[in-house]
Amino acid sequence: MIPRKKILGVLSTYDESDLKIATICSHSALQIFHGARLEGFGTLGIALRRNRPYYESFPRASPEMVLEVESYRDVLRRDFQEKLISENALIIPHGSFVEYVGGESILEYFAVPMFGNRLTLYWEGDRERQRRWLTEAGVKAPRRYSSPSEIDRTVIVKLHGAKGGRGYFKASNPGEFEEKLRELRSRGSAGEFDEVLIEEFVPGVRYYPHFFITPLESPNLPNLSYGRIELLGIDRRLEVVDEIHRGLPEIVEDYLDYTVTGNIPVVVREKFVVDLLDAAARIASASRKLFDPGLIGPFCLETIYHPERGFTVFEISARIVAGTNLYPLGSPYSAYYYDEPVSMGRRIAKEIRKAMKLGALDKLIY
Ligand code: ADP
Repeated sequence: MIPRKKILGVLSTYDESDLKIATICSHSALQIFHGARLEGFGTLGIALRRNRPYYESFPRASPEMVLEVESYRDVLRRDFQEKLISENALIIPHGSFVEYVGGESILEYFAVPMFGNRLTLYWEGDRERQRRWLTEAGVKAPRRYSSPSEIDRTVIVKLHGAKGGRGYFKASNPGEFEEKLRELRSRGSAGEFDEVLIEEFVPGVRYYPHFFITPLESPNLPNLSYGRIELLGIDRRLEVVDEIHRGLPEIVEDYLDYTVTGNIPVVVREKFVVDLLDAAARIASASRKLFDPGLIGPFCLETIYHPERGFTVFEISARIVAGTNLYPLGSPYSAYYYDEPVSMGRRIAKEIRKAMKLGALDKLIY
């Protein structure tokens, strides 16, 4: 793993007056560039040749400079990293950046300064470690089953390496589990689904709140050991299964698919804001205990609310999530923190600007 000291060494060679906010042209890149431009930063996009003209077609969100790649993994090439460093590029990691370049490869080989604490890649990328994190935080998480024979209620089965909920299935007993897994294996390539995670299926309404934590300010919530947390928006993911009513009364198998296809804006009943902020504070405090200096910048909790159980957190995304794309001009919550429209992308840029003014950019980077 590249030590933080080394990355900060690279950062110390940067000309901060020419810092460029950089990311791969995918996921939430338009929002990130848009926010960076509003805060007066230069922007650098890493794009596949085919995608470049599309990203350049948005006058207020296109990156000012584009570096083309054949494959996103090209960013790991030594000459490409040197180019990024010579451009004073500060990488904002988003979901596609992590997915396409690979969390482990980033940790081992990517020496370009990144916004946030890259140790989060290690902690969120592995389901067992995520579980330890949720336990340390003391938030309610779905029950996990170590063996299919223990299945005693409806479970959701998550395939290792499955992207965005694809191929997840439900089962209510060990027999149904085996049968569905066998069927999947017969359809998929051999060995693809070797590892599965069996988790209690939590009934309720899903909410995906987006938070930002700044270590440059003091705690603003109970149960928060460092930093200030802002709730900048909430979304709900639109998954194929959400349209299941269209298949009634005879539900077509294809509707039982959890693939995320889009996002819609939501607000929660105001009293629940307290629960969401409390979970965020506990998760941030636990992150600092587990991997100092803990979470920095954007993160999202994937939650399910049920009136009898309250909120269950089934996943932490320790970076900007695509659901924030709903709010390029701010959300119903960001208005309570800022007098101007502040998206998550812009919030990141504001943080970098503030740290530069304080001479504390190193506090935000690994
Ligand atoms: P990804 O890792 O791709 O984000 P998730 O683990 O978030 O995938 O799961 C994808 C979807 O599956 C969720 O958005 C949710 O609809 C559903 N889901 C995941 N875990 C549970 C659970 N324990 N109970 C009920 N639904 C779940």
